[in-house]
Amino acid sequence: MQIKNLEVPIEIRALRTANVYFIDSNDKFIFDTGMSENSYKYIKSNMNINDIDYIIVSHLHIDHLGGAMYFNRINNIPVYISKNDYNYIKNFIKDNDFYFNSYKELLKTGGVPEMLINEILNSHPLIKFINYYNELNIKILDFTPNNFEVIDVPGHSPGSIVLYSKSEKLLFSGDHILNRITPNISVYSKDKDYLGLYINSLEKIKNLDVQTVYPGHGEIFHNYQERINEILKHHNNRIDTILEILKSWKSPYEVASEIEWSKGRKMETMNYMEKNFAIMETMAHLIYMHNKDLIKMSINSGVNKYII
Ligand SMILES: [Zn+2]
Repeated sequence: MQIKNLEVPIEIRALRTANVYFIDSNDKFIFDTGMSENSYKYIKSNMNINDIDYIIVSHLHIDHLGGAMYFNRINNIPVYISKNDYNYIKNFIKDNDFYFNSYKELLKTGGVPEMLINEILNSHPLIKFINYYNELNIKILDFTPNNFEVIDVPGHSPGSIVLYSKSEKLLFSGDHILNRITPNISVYSKDKDYLGLYINSLEKIKNLDVQTVYPGHGEIFHNYQERINEILKHHNNRIDTILEILKSWKSPYEVASEIEWSKGRKMETMNYMEKNFAIMETMAHLIYMHNKDLIKMSINSGVNKYII
């Protein structure tokens, strides 16, 4: 098996780049596509894409799927995504008013101030790139690439997948496992426990025999199980922090405002997209903790409030 890694510059400052992998294992395919037409051009000038059979994307986020349309349109290369992310995109496009309103409702129940809600909605990646998703021609991944297993790892998105090669002891992890940053966990529908799903998806693949991880962002790494344990520990620490904060009734927005985010940042210093991530990550934790009976919830004038 031959693997070529390309670190593609992307238009998200905090991440800087996304990884695109060219994999030749009888099947020749690309895993992930960067973020935009710029990514497409960058990939095209650094890889010989003429002999690619198809493209698989790890999940629906724009920084992985955003170059796909150009490969499909210009080079006629088919693009495959998991069934769950496919359905999520299609439902979102079909009834985006419904999604927009449910997201607005979710922010309201989170106690987010009215003024902020509209700014957050406008910077939301799915809403911002709705036209792109609408024009994109994708198919459900209904086969397994040569020498690989496709494993469903819902959590970071509804249908995230990883590709595992047992014989080569390697894993293409998408954004399910990253080396330096903890994958963001959000809320895609208010009745589902996305942090719970994510943690289960980590446990599910933890004992695979993996020597090399090819992540969606950052450098290739080898301490597979150690890294999974670190991520699990990070979420446990965050749960402890939230328990500490919840000595009185608080909304998800109030909890998110009190958390010290990575590098000691407070939410008030963040841009709208980052605020959205912080609030959703907090909500995902609160839903998980409430499910586990660690905290109580009550609804107060349409706002969810939690306490230990
Ligand atoms: Zn990503």
